[in-house]
Amino acid sequence: MDFSFEQRYELNGRRVSRDEWLRSFRDQPDEVQAGAFEEIKTEVEALRCAIHDQSPKVTIKTADGETRMTIESCCEEMEERAEKMAAGE
Ligand SMILES: [Zn+2]
Repeated sequence: MDFSFEQRYELNGRRVSRDEWLRSFRDQPDEVQAGAFEEIKTEVEALRCAIHDQSPKVTIKTADGETRMTIESCCEEMEERAEKMAAGE
């Protein structure tokens, strides 16, 4: 089976990198930042490992105006897929 995912990040209709996209939230209130990350979390947690039948777990924490996302996966392969997904590659 071939899995293909694509996450697009856009600002004002222009395609941007995930970093650029996240940077645009930096001056926003914490809850707005967290909302942007929630979107990525939903996409990443929709992935499922074909070997272990598990989905990655995404944790989002906002502290001191910065939001960080942690991904826990069942194996290296899943981790790679999850990171690519989160990075919008
Ligand atoms: Zn796995």
